[in-house]
Amino acid sequence: TKLWQARFYKTANHLRDLPKLDVPEIAFVGRSNAGKSSAINILCNQKSLAYASKTPGRTQHINFFSVGGAHVAQHRHDPVDEKKIELFLVDLPGYGYAQVSGSAKNHWQKLLSDYLITRPQLKGLILVMDSRHPFQPLDVDLLEWFAVTGKPVHCLLTKADKLNRKESTDSLKQTDTILKSYIDESGKLFPFSAQLFSSTKRLGLETATAFIL
Ligand code: GDP
Repeated sequence: TKLWQARFYKTANHLRDLPKLDVPEIAFVGRSNAGKSSAINILCNQKSLAYASKTPGRTQHINFFSVGGAHVAQHRHDPVDEKKIELFLVDLPGYGYAQVSGSAKNHWQKLLSDYLITRPQLKGLILVMDSRHPFQPLDVDLLEWFAVTGKPVHCLLTKADKLNRKESTDSLKQTDTILKSYIDESGKLFPFSAQLFSSTKRLGLETATAFIL
Protein backbone atom coordinates (compact mmCIF):
# COMPACT_ATOMS: atom_id res chain seq x y z
CA THR A 1 0.00 0.00 0.00
CA LYS A 2 0.94 3.64 -0.21
CA LEU A 3 1.80 3.67 3.48
CA TRP A 4 4.73 1.37 2.79
CA GLN A 5 6.51 4.42 1.38
CA ALA A 6 6.61 5.99 4.84
CA ARG A 7 9.93 7.53 5.82
CA PHE A 8 11.09 9.26 8.97
CA TYR A 9 10.83 12.97 8.18
CA LYS A 10 11.49 14.99 11.31
CA THR A 11 11.10 15.39 15.02
CA ALA A 12 9.44 18.44 16.54
CA ASN A 13 9.82 19.59 20.10
CA HIS A 14 8.13 22.97 19.60
CA LEU A 15 5.21 24.20 17.53
CA ARG A 16 7.67 26.21 15.46
CA ASP A 17 9.42 22.97 14.41
CA LEU A 18 6.30 21.52 12.78
CA PRO A 19 6.53 20.96 9.00
CA LYS A 20 5.68 24.05 7.00
CA LEU A 21 4.17 22.00 4.18
CA ASP A 22 0.46 22.14 3.53
CA VAL A 23 0.07 18.37 3.56
CA PRO A 24 -2.63 16.46 5.44
CA GLU A 25 -1.60 14.81 8.69
CA ILE A 26 -3.02 11.79 10.51
CA ALA A 27 -1.83 11.53 14.10
CA PHE A 28 -1.47 8.46 16.30
CA VAL A 29 -2.00 8.82 20.05
CA GLY A 30 -2.31 6.43 22.93
CA ARG A 31 -1.07 5.42 26.32
CA SER A 32 2.46 4.13 26.33
CA ASN A 33 2.54 0.36 25.80
CA ALA A 34 -0.84 0.34 24.03
CA GLY A 35 0.86 -0.89 20.85
CA LYS A 36 1.12 2.39 18.94
CA SER A 37 4.65 1.88 17.60
CA SER A 38 3.86 -1.68 16.56
CA ALA A 39 0.73 -0.49 14.74
CA ILE A 40 2.59 2.24 12.84
CA ASN A 41 5.35 -0.18 11.90
CA ILE A 42 3.01 -2.89 10.67
CA LEU A 43 0.83 -0.43 8.71
CA CYS A 44 3.97 0.91 7.04
CA ASN A 45 5.41 -2.59 6.58
CA GLN A 46 8.65 -1.57 8.29
CA LYS A 47 10.39 -3.14 11.23
CA SER A 48 11.56 -0.12 13.11
CA LEU A 49 10.06 3.06 11.67
CA ALA A 50 8.19 4.10 14.81
CA TYR A 51 10.81 2.74 17.15
CA ALA A 52 12.74 5.75 15.93
CA SER A 53 10.28 7.58 18.19
CA LYS A 54 11.47 5.55 21.13
CA THR A 55 15.15 6.35 20.77
CA PRO A 56 16.38 8.59 23.59
CA GLY A 57 15.83 12.23 22.73
CA ARG A 58 12.81 11.55 20.54
CA THR A 59 10.37 10.00 22.99
CA GLN A 60 8.72 13.19 24.19
CA HIS A 61 8.67 14.72 20.75
CA ILE A 62 6.27 14.72 17.84
CA ASN A 63 7.67 12.51 15.11
CA PHE A 64 6.66 12.94 11.47
CA PHE A 65 6.76 10.24 8.83
CA SER A 66 6.25 11.27 5.23
CA VAL A 67 4.20 9.24 2.77
CA GLY A 68 4.77 9.85 -0.92
CA GLY A 69 7.88 11.05 -2.69
CA ALA A 70 9.78 7.86 -1.99
CA HIS A 71 9.72 4.57 -3.81
CA VAL A 72 8.85 1.59 -1.62
CA ALA A 73 12.03 -0.18 -2.64
CA GLN A 74 14.16 2.92 -2.15
CA HIS A 75 16.58 2.88 0.75
CA ARG A 76 15.17 4.54 3.85
CA HIS A 77 18.08 6.97 4.07
CA ASP A 78 17.63 8.28 0.52
CA PRO A 79 16.16 11.77 0.45
CA VAL A 80 12.44 12.20 -0.07
CA ASP A 81 11.21 14.65 -2.69
CA GLU A 82 9.41 17.20 -0.48
CA LYS A 83 7.14 18.34 -3.28
CA LYS A 84 5.76 14.83 -3.65
CA ILE A 85 4.85 14.26 -0.01
CA GLU A 86 1.13 13.44 0.10
CA LEU A 87 0.58 12.72 3.75
CA PHE A 88 2.29 12.79 7.11
CA LEU A 89 1.77 10.11 9.71
CA VAL A 90 2.38 11.78 13.05
CA ASP A 91 3.53 9.85 16.09
CA LEU A 92 2.54 11.79 19.18
CA PRO A 93 4.23 11.17 22.53
CA GLY A 94 2.60 8.35 24.45
CA TYR A 95 0.79 9.67 27.48
CA GLY A 96 1.08 8.11 30.89
CA TYR A 97 4.82 8.21 31.22
CA ALA A 98 5.20 8.09 34.99
CA GLN A 99 8.91 8.81 34.83
CA VAL A 100 8.46 12.19 33.16
CA SER A 101 7.89 14.88 35.72
CA GLY A 102 7.66 18.59 36.33
CA SER A 103 8.42 21.06 33.59
CA ALA A 104 9.24 18.43 30.94
CA LYS A 105 5.79 16.93 31.41
CA ASN A 106 4.09 20.32 31.23
CA HIS A 107 6.06 21.18 28.13
CA TRP A 108 5.03 18.13 26.12
CA GLN A 109 1.47 18.09 27.41
CA LYS A 110 1.12 21.62 26.12
CA LEU A 111 2.83 20.71 22.85
CA LEU A 112 0.48 17.75 22.45
CA SER A 113 -2.69 19.71 23.18
CA ASP A 114 -1.63 22.73 21.09
CA TYR A 115 -0.86 20.44 18.19
CA LEU A 116 -4.14 18.52 18.45
CA ILE A 117 -6.36 21.56 18.84
CA THR A 118 -4.75 24.15 16.58
CA ARG A 119 -3.10 22.29 13.71
CA PRO A 120 -5.04 22.91 10.46
CA GLN A 121 -3.18 20.15 8.59
CA LEU A 122 -4.37 17.57 11.12
CA LYS A 123 -7.27 15.73 9.47
CA GLY A 124 -7.93 12.97 11.95
CA LEU A 125 -6.71 10.99 14.86
CA ILE A 126 -5.94 7.32 15.39
CA LEU A 127 -6.50 6.53 19.07
CA VAL A 128 -4.60 3.39 20.00
CA MET A 129 -6.01 1.48 22.97
CA ASP A 130 -5.39 -2.01 24.30
CA SER A 131 -8.52 -4.02 23.43
CA ARG A 132 -8.40 -5.61 26.88
CA HIS A 133 -8.85 -2.31 28.69
CA PRO A 134 -9.89 0.55 26.42
CA PHE A 135 -11.00 3.99 27.64
CA GLN A 136 -8.58 4.51 30.47
CA PRO A 137 -9.05 7.95 32.08
CA LEU A 138 -6.40 9.61 29.89
CA ASP A 139 -7.98 8.17 26.73
CA VAL A 140 -11.34 9.60 27.76
CA ASP A 141 -9.82 13.00 28.55
CA LEU A 142 -8.17 13.10 25.18
CA LEU A 143 -11.29 12.04 23.30
CA GLU A 144 -13.39 14.62 25.11
CA TRP A 145 -11.22 17.57 24.38
CA PHE A 146 -10.36 16.49 20.84
CA ALA A 147 -14.10 16.22 20.12
CA VAL A 148 -14.34 20.03 20.03
CA THR A 149 -12.35 20.04 16.78
CA GLY A 150 -15.10 18.02 15.06
CA LYS A 151 -12.39 15.92 13.36
CA PRO A 152 -12.65 12.14 13.01
CA VAL A 153 -11.20 9.77 15.58
CA HIS A 154 -10.66 6.13 14.67
CA CYS A 155 -9.85 3.77 17.54
CA LEU A 156 -7.53 0.83 17.03
CA LEU A 157 -8.29 -1.80 19.64
CA THR A 158 -4.89 -3.41 19.66
CA LYS A 159 -3.60 -6.78 20.83
CA ALA A 160 -6.89 -8.36 19.75
CA ASP A 161 -4.93 -11.60 19.39
CA LYS A 162 -4.94 -11.79 23.20
CA LEU A 163 -8.74 -12.05 23.26
CA ASN A 164 -10.92 -14.92 22.13
CA ARG A 165 -13.66 -14.35 19.59
CA LYS A 166 -16.36 -13.48 22.12
CA GLU A 167 -14.12 -11.20 24.15
CA SER A 168 -13.01 -9.29 21.07
CA THR A 169 -16.57 -8.90 19.80
CA ASP A 170 -17.58 -7.61 23.24
CA SER A 171 -14.66 -5.20 23.36
CA LEU A 172 -15.62 -3.75 19.98
CA LYS A 173 -19.32 -3.54 20.92
CA GLN A 174 -18.58 -1.76 24.18
CA THR A 175 -16.27 0.63 22.39
CA ASP A 176 -18.91 1.43 19.77
CA THR A 177 -21.45 2.03 22.53
CA ILE A 178 -19.14 4.43 24.34
CA LEU A 179 -18.27 6.25 21.10
CA LYS A 180 -21.96 6.63 20.27
CA SER A 181 -22.59 8.20 23.66
CA TYR A 182 -20.72 11.31 22.52
CA ILE A 183 -23.23 13.69 21.00
CA ASP A 184 -22.93 17.42 20.46
CA GLU A 185 -25.44 20.08 21.57
CA SER A 186 -27.56 19.54 18.47
CA GLY A 187 -27.76 15.81 19.19
CA LYS A 188 -25.35 14.88 16.39
CA LEU A 189 -22.87 12.02 16.74
CA PHE A 190 -19.18 12.78 16.59
CA PRO A 191 -17.21 11.18 13.73
CA PHE A 192 -15.81 8.44 15.95
CA SER A 193 -15.21 4.86 14.85
CA ALA A 194 -13.39 1.75 16.06
CA GLN A 195 -12.00 -1.57 14.90
CA LEU A 196 -10.09 -4.53 16.25
CA PHE A 197 -6.40 -4.65 15.46
CA SER A 198 -3.46 -6.95 16.01
CA SER A 199 0.06 -6.21 14.95
CA THR A 200 1.29 -9.69 15.69
CA LYS A 201 -1.55 -11.44 13.82
CA ARG A 202 -1.78 -8.69 11.19
CA LEU A 203 -5.47 -8.24 11.92
CA GLY A 204 -7.30 -5.15 10.71
CA LEU A 205 -4.56 -3.76 8.51
CA GLU A 206 -6.75 -3.12 5.46
CA THR A 207 -9.48 -1.36 7.42
CA ALA A 208 -6.99 0.85 9.26
CA THR A 209 -5.11 1.67 6.07
CA ALA A 210 -8.34 2.56 4.28
CA PHE A 211 -9.32 4.87 7.13
CA ILE A 212 -6.00 6.67 7.05
CA LEU A 213 -5.94 7.10 3.26
P1 GDP B 1 3.65 1.74 22.37
O1 GDP B 1 4.33 2.12 23.65
O2 GDP B 1 2.21 2.11 22.40
O3 GDP B 1 4.35 2.25 21.15
O4 GDP B 1 3.63 0.14 22.33
P2 GDP B 1 4.54 -0.90 21.52
O5 GDP B 1 4.15 -0.96 20.09
O6 GDP B 1 5.97 -0.69 21.83
O7 GDP B 1 4.03 -2.25 22.19
C1 GDP B 1 4.09 -2.46 23.59
C2 GDP B 1 4.21 -3.94 23.87
O8 GDP B 1 3.05 -4.63 23.39
C3 GDP B 1 5.38 -4.60 23.15
O9 GDP B 1 5.92 -5.60 23.99
C4 GDP B 1 4.75 -5.23 21.92
O10 GDP B 1 5.46 -6.35 21.47
C5 GDP B 1 3.37 -5.61 22.42
N1 GDP B 1 2.37 -5.56 21.34
C6 GDP B 1 2.13 -4.53 20.51
N2 GDP B 1 1.14 -4.84 19.63
C7 GDP B 1 0.76 -6.10 19.91
C8 GDP B 1 -0.25 -6.98 19.35
O11 GDP B 1 -0.98 -6.68 18.41
N3 GDP B 1 -0.36 -8.20 19.95
C9 GDP B 1 0.41 -8.60 21.00
N4 GDP B 1 0.21 -9.81 21.51
N5 GDP B 1 1.36 -7.79 21.54
C10 GDP B 1 1.54 -6.56 21.00
